[in-house]
Amino acid sequence: MTIPHFGEEPDFDQRPDRPEEACGVFGVYAPGEDVARLTYFGLHALQHRGQESAGIAVGDGETVTVTKNHGLVSKVFTESDLDSLTGSVALGHTRYSTTGSSTSWENAQPHLSAIGHQVIALAHNGNLINTSELRDSLKGNGVRFRSTTDSEVIATLIGHFTQQHHHIREGIRDTMKLIRGAYSVVLITEEALYAFRDPHGIRPLVLGRLPQGGWVVSSETCGLDIIGAEHVRDMNPGEMVKISADGFQAEQAVPTEKPSLCIFEFIYFARPDSVLYDCTLYEARRLMGAALAVDAPVEADLVIGVPDSGVPAAAGFAQASGIPFGEGLVKNRYVGRTFISPTQSIRQQGIRLKLNPLRHVIEGKRLVVVDDSIVRGNTSRKLVQLLRDAGAAEIHMRITSPPVRWPCFFGIDTDTQDQLIASAKSVDEVREFIGADSLAYLTLEDMVIATGRGADEFCMACFDGDYPLEIPESVRKGKLVLESCG
Ligand code: SF4
Repeated sequence: MTIPHFGEEPDFDQRPDRPEEACGVFGVYAPGEDVARLTYFGLHALQHRGQESAGIAVGDGETVTVTKNHGLVSKVFTESDLDSLTGSVALGHTRYSTTGSSTSWENAQPHLSAIGHQVIALAHNGNLINTSELRDSLKGNGVRFRSTTDSEVIATLIGHFTQQHHHIREGIRDTMKLIRGAYSVVLITEEALYAFRDPHGIRPLVLGRLPQGGWVVSSETCGLDIIGAEHVRDMNPGEMVKISADGFQAEQAVPTEKPSLCIFEFIYFARPDSVLYDCTLYEARRLMGAALAVDAPVEADLVIGVPDSGVPAAAGFAQASGIPFGEGLVKNRYVGRTFISPTQSIRQQGIRLKLNPLRHVIEGKRLVVVDDSIVRGNTSRKLVQLLRDAGAAEIHMRITSPPVRWPCFFGIDTDTQDQLIASAKSVDEVREFIGADSLAYLTLEDMVIATGRGADEFCMACFDGDYPLEIPESVRKGKLVLESCG
C-alpha cells in the first residue's frame, strides 16, 4: 500500500505554531458488549490528541487481533473491520508521533507482540527519556526491534520480565522500575485489560465504569462520556490496574513521585469538556482569560478567541473586562492533517487554510485576540496579518500561558529551544515580531490559580525549565541551548 504523504504535514504553514499533542489511549473490558465499537467511539472523542494514525486491538479469549492504519479514526475503520473485531476486551490508540518515524506502519499503534504463546497489544501516550539506553542494552541481549518507537521498548521489556516471572503484572511492575519519562499505557491480552501510569503522572489517564458494569480507561474523560461511562477516578501516578474475569485489581506498582501532570493539558491539549484534577477544562480556560483581563487590561471594542482553546478564554476575558465577545475566526477543522498535497496556489493561502476571519465582525474594530500559546511566533504573526487584512483597527494579543522558553521531553512536540521565540526575545520583541499593537502573557501564578490546584502538582517545564526528571545529556543534546534548572 502506498501512502505518499503519511506523517508529512503538508507545508501549508510550515510547522504548527503550538505544541502538538502526543496520542490518545483508550481501553475497555466489557464481556458481552461490542468492545470494538465502544473503542471506536472512544477514539473519536480522543481524535484531537493525534491524527496521524489510529488502531484498535481486540482480545477474544484466544488471541488478539489488531486493525490499524494511517489517518483519522473515521478513515481507518470500516463497518466490516469493526464487525470482525469481536471479543470481550479492547484497546485503541490515536497517534501523533514524537518518537519514531511517522511513515512506518509498524510505528502505528497498538503495538502487537508475543510473550511465548501469549499475544499482547499495547498503546502508549507519552515519551520515555531513557529509550536509547534501554534499546542498546536489549539489543546487546539479542533482542530485535521491528519499530523505532519507545512503545516497542516497553512491550519488549514487559515480555522479557513476564517470561522470567510467568505473570504479566510482575512483568509490568519490573518494567515500570526501569523506564523513565512520561507514560500512560493500556495493554490487553486475550482476556484481560491492564493500564499503568508513570510515577509522576505526566500524561492523564482516567478510569470509568459502563452502566452495564464494564470498565473503561481513557486519556480523557471525554472518551468516557461519549460511550455513557461514568468517571470513577483518575489513575494514580505509579499505579497499575488489571481488569479481567477475576474483577478489578489495582496496586501501587512503583512509588509515586512528585505529581507532575502536564499543565499544557489545561491550556491546550485536552478537550474543554474533559475533567482533570476535578476541574472542567472549559472553566479553567475561562478563568485564565478572566485573569488576563485583570492583569493586562486594554481599551478595545471586541474580544475574539483563536479556535479552539482560545474561545473559552476569550469568553472569560470578555466577562471580566466588559468588552463584548464575538466569533471572529472560523476554523477549517482537519485541513492541517489532510494527506493530499495542496496545489501551489492553495499553499500560498497559508494560515487561511486553517482559519477564516469573519470580516463583517472584525472590520474597523479594536480587537483583543486571545490565544493559548506562542511557540515559534510564525503563526501568530500570520494571524495578526490576516486580521489586519480583514480590516481590524488594532490587535491586542493576550496569551493564556507564560512565554514558552523550554522544549518538552515528555511526548509533546515543541521543537528545539532555539526555535522557541521567547527563549531569545523579550515580550516586546515578540510583540514586534508578530506585529501586534500590544502583547501580554498570563503569569505562571495566575495560570496555576485557574486550575484550582497547587504549582507543586504540575510539570510546567516549558515555562520555567524545571523538569520533573533529570534529562540525560544524550537527550538534551541539540534540544537545549540554555541550562535548565531541573
Ligand atoms: S515540558 Fe511542557 S509540554 Fe512537556 S510535560 Fe512539561 S509542561 Fe507539558
